[in-house]
Amino acid sequence: MSSPAHPAWAVYDLERLRANLGELRRQIRPGRALIAALKANAYGHGAPAIAKALDGEGLSAFMTGSFDQARAMKEAGLRTPVVMFAGALPSGMAALIEAGLTPTVVDLAGAEAAARAAPPGGAAAIYVKVDAGLGRLGVALEDAEDFLEALSRMPGLRIAGLYTHLPFADISGRGWAESRLAAFDGLLDRLTAGRRLPPVTQARASCCLAAGLNDRANAVCIGHLLYGLSPFADDSVADLSAYRPVLAEVGSRLIHIGDHRQGSDFAIGDSYGLRHGRRAGVAPIGVSHGLPRPAPGSRPSVLIRGRRAPILAVSLEHLVIDLDGIDDAAVGDAVLLLGRQDGATIDFAELTAWFGLSGLDTAMALSDRLPATYRGEPG
Ligand SMILES: *Cc1c(COP(=O)(O)O)cnc(C)c1O
Repeated sequence: MSSPAHPAWAVYDLERLRANLGELRRQIRPGRALIAALKANAYGHGAPAIAKALDGEGLSAFMTGSFDQARAMKEAGLRTPVVMFAGALPSGMAALIEAGLTPTVVDLAGAEAAARAAPPGGAAAIYVKVDAGLGRLGVALEDAEDFLEALSRMPGLRIAGLYTHLPFADISGRGWAESRLAAFDGLLDRLTAGRRLPPVTQARASCCLAAGLNDRANAVCIGHLLYGLSPFADDSVADLSAYRPVLAEVGSRLIHIGDHRQGSDFAIGDSYGLRHGRRAGVAPIGVSHGLPRPAPGSRPSVLIRGRRAPILAVSLEHLVIDLDGIDDAAVGDAVLLLGRQDGATIDFAELTAWFGLSGLDTAMALSDRLPATYRGEPG
């Protein structure tokens, strides 16, 4: 929570999270499972709070790469199973399994280590990741059948899931993803014929779903769209206006107002000099909270008393704001970098334009750096 001792905050809107989830459910055929990607601190939104909000929403699993955050979800008593993206050495498998997590396996050494860590007489559940063409991580698609066959003979191992990942940035990637989905479907067909299909199969994430691509897997694993972030570099692939950014507000308060003489120079770089006499307001939020310094020539603004005020400078811990024309501004006034105030709005697209980053990278820049408030928390 933000306090007068340091007024700066980020607000994440859980109503929007639930609305995005509802939209995802409308896009997915009935009978398919939905897995939530909570990696990277829930894409910068705060994994503990997001996991808590989504627990009980009927998701088939949470997936993360963070051992610490996964353990915290277990310790918080969440009921949704937690599956780990590939991120452990074979020698780390035992720790994951002992913590009640389901590891991803991408090679025989990892599978053997997981089998050895199974409880006596029991089996360790694992997911297998296949590289269907991204060229990053997983068992090569052509080797996947033999690999699963070898794993099925290991006592102490239960293959609970099989997945791949096919992200793409723009319309030129759509055809590639479509052909790779078809290849993964081929694997699923062969496994079905051989009665070796794992219970959970998944290939589509935000890109494929948003682009309207379909497949024969029985689950999807979604990150970006859940948080209202576009997975694409531009808007040529799909209209994503049905998804709203969960990051709803970033703000601070004026802690000081100075009337500066013309020519007084607290300037940081050419573009921010006080060339005329100016009233400048200061709010305690800056680079250390994830804000970028505005690009030369750009004029991002904030909202104060429902009016736009240009940013003069961003320093490590302070934002300096031009208050010319906002004569009634007073110490304690809210300063919004994102959000709505007295009928005026700075939307998420405007914030990302200032940051010069994608929506995800903007959320990551602010991740865990400001006191977070979650709007719409269940009673
Ligand atoms: C991150 C991730 C996802 C989710 O991707 P989005 O594009 O954010 O929906 C799905 N699968 C894997 C393997 C991932 O690493």
